[in-house]
Amino acid sequence: MSFPRDLLIVGSGITGLSAALFYKRRNPDASVMVLDRGFWPHGATARNAGFACFGSAGELTDDLINESETEVKNRLEKRFNGLELLKSELGTEHIDYNMCGGYELFGDFDENHFQDSFANLAMFNEWVQAFTGESESYKVGKKNGFKVIYNRLEGYLHSGKLMRRLLEKASNEGVEIRWNTPVKEVRKGHVILEDDLALPCTNTLIATNGFTKNLLPGCEIEPARGYVFVTSPIESLKWRGCFHYNKGYVYFRDVGDRLLLGGARDVDIEGERSFENEINHKIKNWLIDFAREKLLPGSDWEIHNEWTGIMGFGPSKSPICQKINDQVYLAAGLGGMGVALGMELGQSASEMIA
Ligand SMILES: Cc1cc2nc3c(=O)[nH]c(=O)nc-3n(C[C@H](O)[C@H](O)[C@H](O)COP(=O)(O)OP(=O)(O)OC[C@H]3O[C@@H](n4cnc5c(N)ncnc54)[C@H](O)[C@@H]3O)c2cc1C
Repeated sequence: MSFPRDLLIVGSGITGLSAALFYKRRNPDASVMVLDRGFWPHGATARNAGFACFGSAGELTDDLINESETEVKNRLEKRFNGLELLKSELGTEHIDYNMCGGYELFGDFDENHFQDSFANLAMFNEWVQAFTGESESYKVGKKNGFKVIYNRLEGYLHSGKLMRRLLEKASNEGVEIRWNTPVKEVRKGHVILEDDLALPCTNTLIATNGFTKNLLPGCEIEPARGYVFVTSPIESLKWRGCFHYNKGYVYFRDVGDRLLLGGARDVDIEGERSFENEINHKIKNWLIDFAREKLLPGSDWEIHNEWTGIMGFGPSKSPICQKINDQVYLAAGLGGMGVALGMELGQSASEMIA
């Protein structure tokens, strides 16, 4: 296949690969190439915590402070549909999807937030019933000494398997993927690689999420690093399912008999505004203390595995899907909700370009 390619996509995360998959399916004769700077997707998709969530009652309650009911409800529906698209496209069995339910934990410090969220539950249940047919998806309860609001329709999946399945599907569709290919610049009709090689193309999609400012300095997507660790096996682990705490800043779930725990970006928001995959020890120590004191008191465990990843936050909670000029497009800014929104964003981007 020769140049120019019909479509060059920068970034092989869930957004870029989904855009490639749907574009190629729509235009089987088109030549589509995805470029990534890593030897494997270097961004958030392969490094996330695997939560397949679409909105906790606390988050929706906070959103209602600044947004209308219609806006908040529409976003909730979009996330739910995004997850349905992902599950049906990749197959739940290939990504270890488990609808274990999601719990939002409330500490003593956020009693008011719990009361406000509780007051909205009937409305949230009506919204969810309208687009799923499922009644009473949100329920109040208790879990291991915490007040919780439970959403039985949430779950988790295996991010590595998601990535592998998506790569497989895109390749089977005829998408070419080039690893270790950092892009330095995107121009109309050309993508310039780090070694100054210019690749001609008809259209380019930038799907670099948290790294987008490097290619589009004026863009409003800010990098935000996230940290996660997985413990050694814990005897009789009592946390089974997906859990959120402190307005979603802290999240944890079981991985077999281990606990995966991450987040706490609010401990050092400025320090985490970074493109570098380095561990912030202030955050790591906060999470260790939280686990020791609140989640696993008396348990014997150590950190078995840890990593960071870079997210991209735009000016609003909805990602950006935008035409930059008549040959360059942008799809990025998924924040902490890429599992629910990434494939749908890629699909929308492919339609925008087509
Ligand atoms: C620690 C952590 C935990 C998370 N947990 C969850 C979760 O549980 N649930 C959830 O829904 N979301 C979670 N997220 C967010 C989610 O992972 C992201 O929103 C989503 O993966 C973004 O996908 P993307 O394809 O847009 O970007 P990415 O997956 O970041 O992909 C961008 C790609 O662009 C490549 N790239 C960047 N610059 C260049 C360049 N110049 N040249 C070539 N290639 C380039 C990168 O190498 C990367 O592979 C988490 C994120 C992190 C970091």
